[in-house]
Amino acid sequence: MHPDGHVSWFLNGKLNVCENCVDRWAEETPDRIALIWEGDDPSHSKRITYRDLHTQVCKFANMLKRLGVRKHDTVGIYMPMIPETVYAMLACARLGAIHSVVFAGFSSHSLRDRLDDAHCKVVITADQGVRGGKVIPLKSVMDEALKECPLVEKCIVFKHQGHDIDWTEGRDEAMRPYCPLEPMDNEDLLFMLYTSGSTGKPKGIAHSSAGYLLYAAMTHKYVFDYHPGDVHACVADVGWITGHSYVVYGPLCNGATTVLFESVPTYPDPARYWHMIEKHGISQFYTAPTAIRALMVHGDEWVSKHDLSSLRVLGTVGEPINPEAWRWYYEVVGRKRCDIVDTYWQTETGGHLLTPLPGAIRCKPGSATRPFFGVEPVVLDSKTGQPLEGDDVSGVLCIKKPWPGMMRTVYGDHERLLNVYLRPYKGFYHTGDGAVRDKDGYYWITGRVDDTINVSGHRLGSAEIEHALVQHPGCAEAAVVGFPHSVKGAGLFCYVTMNNEYEVNEGTVNELRDIVRKEIGPIATPDHILIVPALPKTRSGKIMRRLLRKIASNDTGSLGDVSTLADQQVVSDLINAAQKLF
Ligand code: ATP
Ligand code: MG
Repeated sequence: MHPDGHVSWFLNGKLNVCENCVDRWAEETPDRIALIWEGDDPSHSKRITYRDLHTQVCKFANMLKRLGVRKHDTVGIYMPMIPETVYAMLACARLGAIHSVVFAGFSSHSLRDRLDDAHCKVVITADQGVRGGKVIPLKSVMDEALKECPLVEKCIVFKHQGHDIDWTEGRDEAMRPYCPLEPMDNEDLLFMLYTSGSTGKPKGIAHSSAGYLLYAAMTHKYVFDYHPGDVHACVADVGWITGHSYVVYGPLCNGATTVLFESVPTYPDPARYWHMIEKHGISQFYTAPTAIRALMVHGDEWVSKHDLSSLRVLGTVGEPINPEAWRWYYEVVGRKRCDIVDTYWQTETGGHLLTPLPGAIRCKPGSATRPFFGVEPVVLDSKTGQPLEGDDVSGVLCIKKPWPGMMRTVYGDHERLLNVYLRPYKGFYHTGDGAVRDKDGYYWITGRVDDTINVSGHRLGSAEIEHALVQHPGCAEAAVVGFPHSVKGAGLFCYVTMNNEYEVNEGTVNELRDIVRKEIGPIATPDHILIVPALPKTRSGKIMRRLLRKIASNDTGSLGDVSTLADQQVVSDLINAAQKLF
């Protein structure tokens, strides 16, 4: 790993990412479906061919050009999950502009900070979004944000919910149907994306053109065992890296049919995913453990009613998947005939780092198994920083050599790339996650390194205690954090949610405590177990441990940046519940 973070692939090569994802296929297979849009309302869907995609992207690019967008400019995109969002991203790529997609659930403050940090001159939004039947007033959030974004000169508004679309049509007609491709250098930035913010101030992670595209396409092809004719559904939002790599760039570069899912897993009912798989004949389905757990609590009937015979590969991403959820996914959704791919990667890595390959790697539920081609993981001793040789070791997960999809910089702050990722362990890329390499050479992510809790000198991973808690038949989800303890250094505070139908009684807390003692040992005996209705999550579904730590420490005066929180009410409920324990 170069100490200054200089990485390049295909040096001096030229390409245009949009040409690879659109023009190539519009010529070869113009009638193949590029996008299937599944609207929030299950009766709304659209199919867009590669030919249509080409026309729409060209029109969009010409509009951006007319508004002054040029090579290397940055463009902010604050849009719902609709085809126009994909047109906007690809139109930027066509012109060589760097896009910065901000998830359409962020508040005006978060949006302002991101647009400002990215130096966007032009922004693209829609009148409104809709998710789970709830309207999101995107344009008015944007208006609020733009009050404090002096650099933004133009705001393009797409009328998604509005009935009167004359305004857009008028413009579209004036637009030429072809837009030339801007030749780009291999290392020119394709986009930046702010990380989800589970651990602090968001960073604009910037990705390259050639290396990123290669990595997104290759991992999409091999990890999901993609073959022409497959219908690939990654239900992540394009506001996250998973949407960039596995809704847009990976599948389109391979000429696949990719699904854009606008809704949420439980709208209008908990069969939404399964209904959609049956309706579109989906072959690969990719979601997050949090969604799987949320659907599990509703029971198997919602799944078993549907014909899921088109499925071949089921993927998960975002956090470790607990073995119970893994088995449910494998048995109830996959009917024991689909491959499960538990993919471990980050916004910073562009694509999968650790993952099984369907049919080629024997799975162990809860392990992301082995590295993808060319990735060289190492497990370092956290104190000495030395690589731990051999198997059956536990430490900090780092990567030894660059791979094509590796981030190239933190936008506007290259020092931050060095400080956060390259300097902590000299010569390695630091993932920030802990890992075990077991006796068979399989990797198990034990959670973020800063989630380790030091109880009386014993370093306990929050993930292992959580795994123990969810063994309880009633427990749906658990999050464990440390808090200052006068004797032990740190004590264990466990937040637990229970399944809908489970009746909590006086003994439940003791049962939960006993499971942890039995599974891990008396050293891990929880100090507090709080049964709560919900856990605070980021909008991408990750538990915000930073907040849980503050609540556990009874330090709720200043909670820091909570703009990525999905539901603010959850936090006040937790604070109230925790107060009763102090
Ligand atoms: P921030 O960096 O702003 O705190 P974040 O790390 O949650 O946000 P992402 O880049 O979306 O943002 O998430 C990457 C992290 O998610 C990984 O570092 C890891 O902790 C976790 N993760 C992702 N996939 C897996 C997986 N399959 N198994 C275990 N952990 C995973
Ligand atoms: Mg991260």
